[in-house]
Amino acid sequence: MFKLNKKHSIRYFESSLLSECDFLTHAFCTRLGGVSEDDYTSLNISFKEGDSEGKVLQNWHRLAMAFSIPLEQFLTLNQAHGDDIFVIKPYGDYYSSREHLNYDAIVTNRTNLAICIKTADCVPIFLVDRIKKVIAVVHAGWRSTALGITAKVIRLLIDKYHCLPRDILAVIGPAIGKCCFDLDAAAADDFRKQKNHDTFIFPGKRQNKYAIDLAEANRSQIMNCGVPESNIDVSDFCTSCRQDLFFSHRGSGGITGRQVNFMIIKGDVPCRVLTVGDEIQHIQ
Ligand SMILES: [Zn+2]
Repeated sequence: MFKLNKKHSIRYFESSLLSECDFLTHAFCTRLGGVSEDDYTSLNISFKEGDSEGKVLQNWHRLAMAFSIPLEQFLTLNQAHGDDIFVIKPYGDYYSSREHLNYDAIVTNRTNLAICIKTADCVPIFLVDRIKKVIAVVHAGWRSTALGITAKVIRLLIDKYHCLPRDILAVIGPAIGKCCFDLDAAAADDFRKQKNHDTFIFPGKRQNKYAIDLAEANRSQIMNCGVPESNIDVSDFCTSCRQDLFFSHRGSGGITGRQVNFMIIKGDVPCRVLTVGDEIQHIQ
């Protein structure tokens, strides 16, 4: 179940499933509580969408202050709509290059590293092994969902971290609903390779279009990996229907901001971020 909370000016959702994990802080932020204006009103955290850099930076500062997490401990990706996974190394500062991080998922068991996914319709997914304390965030847009990125991350958790599916909690955050998302026949075919595809592909409202339930497609991937249904929490907000709360790429016609979704393992040992794609150059 998702609950709307507030820290300082920031309004964000928490999942009751993860609120029970006392080693974690997590937030699916709304667009509310920032300083950006017009199409970017107001908590836009992306420097890449045409918003004022100064305002985006102020939004990052507000977020960092509200959650008492230093800015240099937030890690964002240059999200690429693929299925590559960034696995954080187990010691040292996590990254020290100016190279772009072209990935769509992050996995870590490090403390004090806030791993972030930016969204405006795509599906943000949090995976947590509550026993081994390994966490992952996934950016599941339609292309990454069709590539099976969420199942790929869970297989990595099982193979590399020896996680057991029964210990994995999965939370599917606010994303565009099947009410507002359709694809043409060729793109819809990309989903038909997946098991149970009749549970998430439907005839569309428009001619020759298919409505896709992206949240359900990812929930299906998670269950097919052996994660029990009772370990999965799904938001029922549609970002396009609820543009009062969320940025929506499709709903806005393309010019809009991005909300941030993040998760961090609490602890005393900092994992300092040295650079984060091109965004940290602004943050630093
Ligand atoms: Zn909708």
